Amino acid sequence: MEITTNDIEIYFGENQILKGIDINISNKQFIGIIGPNGSGKSTLLKCIYRILKPSSGIVKIDSKSIHELTMKETAKKMGVVAQHNYHNFDFSVQDMVLMGRTPHKRALERDNEEDYKIMYNALEKVGMIDFAKRNFNSLSGGEQQRIILARALAQETESLILDEPTNHLDIKYQLQLLDIVKSLNIEVVSAIHDLNIAAMYCDKIYVMKNGKIVAYGTPQEVLTEKLIKDVYEVD
Ligand code: ADP
Ligand code: MG
Repeated sequence: MEITTNDIEIYFGENQILKGIDINISNKQFIGIIGPNGSGKSTLLKCIYRILKPSSGIVKIDSKSIHELTMKETAKKMGVVAQHNYHNFDFSVQDMVLMGRTPHKRALERDNEEDYKIMYNALEKVGMIDFAKRNFNSLSGGEQQRIILARALAQETESLILDEPTNHLDIKYQLQLLDIVKSLNIEVVSAIHDLNIAAMYCDKIYVMKNGKIVAYGTPQEVLTEKLIKDVYEVD
């Protein structure tokens, strides 16, 4: 599948936050988005997963505007792990993950054996199988993040949209989770804070600064001392 953005612009009041963004996610690549805090990474991803509507420009999935897709169709195409905290879901962990199955079901259809199998499998993958019966609200930030990723895995989507998905995790779990994501062999786009992680996992990296893409290429091409110091304004 292919996700493209075409000349995306977005304003919040007078402030232009995204300026002519063109990106392409295809060929089962793991695409990273890096850049300083406030450069617009989350805003761009929100345009892709339809939380925000750009002021102008278009987001397409397989050459079709995302706004022509129903929410259910969108949910079959992309799984999302957003950046903000999730602490206000009064559901058990297993019910949170089972929600990932919704796009594959008819309205009011109950979870079947297959759904439970997929749910347990997803919890196993993120190392949270022992937490299945816990209340989601009782988990730490990092644990919640792993459950949200499990939900995205249970969704069995064609792509994943991740916004700093491993920020609250120990290195071990950061690597473990990204290994899982990588092994899915689907299109992935992820905002990434840690440049070492970006170097390890990304096929291509977009570098953002002040709402623009200022560089694009392989980690080797992009993660040069000069470019990084320039983008992060290190003297
Ligand atoms: P990043 O994810 O790269 O840290 P964001 O996309 O979250 O950056 O934010 C980019 C800029 O947009 C920031 O200056 C932020 O304050 C601003 N911004 C984000 N969301 C809103 C909003 N809902 N209203 C107004 N400004 C916003
Ligand atoms: Mg962000």
